[in-house]
Amino acid sequence: MSGLGVISAAGHARRIRLLRNDIHVILDEVIDSGVYHDGPRTERLAAIAGERWGGFPIPVSSGTMALTAAFRGLAGEPGDEVVVPAMTFPSTLFAAIACDLVPVVVDIDPMTRNLDPTAVEAAITPRTRAIVAVHLHGLAADMHRLGSIARRHGLAVIEDCAQAAGATQSGRFVGTFGDFGCFSLWVGKNLGGLGDAGLLIARDRDRVAMLRRWVDLGRDDDRNRHDLVGDLGRIDELDAAVVAHQLELLPQWIERRRGIAAGYSAAFTALPLRLPSDEFDRPHTYYKYAIQTASPHQANALMAHLADSGIAAEQVYPVPVASQPAFTSPVTGRTPGHRRTPVPVAERFARTHVCLPIYPELTDSEVERIIDAVTGYYRGEGASSGKVLATAGRVEHGS
Ligand SMILES: *Cc1c(COP(=O)(O)O)cnc(C)c1O
Repeated sequence: MSGLGVISAAGHARRIRLLRNDIHVILDEVIDSGVYHDGPRTERLAAIAGERWGGFPIPVSSGTMALTAAFRGLAGEPGDEVVVPAMTFPSTLFAAIACDLVPVVVDIDPMTRNLDPTAVEAAITPRTRAIVAVHLHGLAADMHRLGSIARRHGLAVIEDCAQAAGATQSGRFVGTFGDFGCFSLWVGKNLGGLGDAGLLIARDRDRVAMLRRWVDLGRDDDRNRHDLVGDLGRIDELDAAVVAHQLELLPQWIERRRGIAAGYSAAFTALPLRLPSDEFDRPHTYYKYAIQTASPHQANALMAHLADSGIAAEQVYPVPVASQPAFTSPVTGRTPGHRRTPVPVAERFARTHVCLPIYPELTDSEVERIIDAVTGYYRGEGASSGKVLATAGRVEHGS
């Protein structure tokens, strides 16, 4: 590693340190205001998200909460099904299960790594209520195709935009195609606050009032009156202000991510890898830059080689979501209701991909180091670490 700093897999610690002075000012303003929830900063975040992206935004406490509120907003019957992709964070399924819906897990498309529209259509039954489009790694799922399937079958569309704030298809922002757009504003996402936060965008004005109440324990303007059984899903003023500040910076951050990705893709075209797709009507926003290698062994050996070079790479996610113990051997002994279809593409992708560090705060020389380490591995410099790893098995890389 020779005195060079370690390049972490994710960049949010750097981001927050760089924003330190702005965050101090915001914190002082919140302290002086004496208002910690439901104040002007939350209103301002809703207003600027609405101006930027459209629809009716409701700032909430997390992406999981945004998804849960969206599933509430579906007003389905217990046992109704929602179609979800095999490559996603467990929240996408957990939120549906919390609302007594049954997630039906389908495979991904090998090029986009998003829902395979053919698999979606094959999974539809008379009980299906909604399609849940997860925009994985910052690339919009094909909302034109998924939207037309949904219309044909009379289904709702929920977008999980947790990894794709600012992504578009045909110039239109994700989160505004479906009935609901659900954003995580966790500190480590492309757009975030200081800890956990989220945003729900509803398209239907009538449902917005109900959902605003639902995330505030069912309260209306009269704070002592609760007219529905809700949940506590408010954002706090500090996070709302930090997110609003970052929203101004998001377009230039996405440009920087795309610039880094262009450098990676140019350097890796001749390597035996499948690179992320940057479909022409869906510019990638690169929350993650995932390269797919030829085998699980190669993915592990590449990550070990990168680690030797002081570069933390990771698998996001190392297993398809329904392979999590919550579904295969839950500690409660009770498997949550869900249905699976075969997911060979996701199984393979999960075990063979590697996410390289990609964040706006990377320096050009760090980007060069990452490129050199990956190309060096394929020139054979990683052969020895590959052997070590073959006996060591899978390496765990944090995230
Ligand atoms: C992060 C994430 C979530 C959950 O968001 P939280 O803010 O952590 O609750 C849901 N879905 C996807 C695809 C995510 O990446």
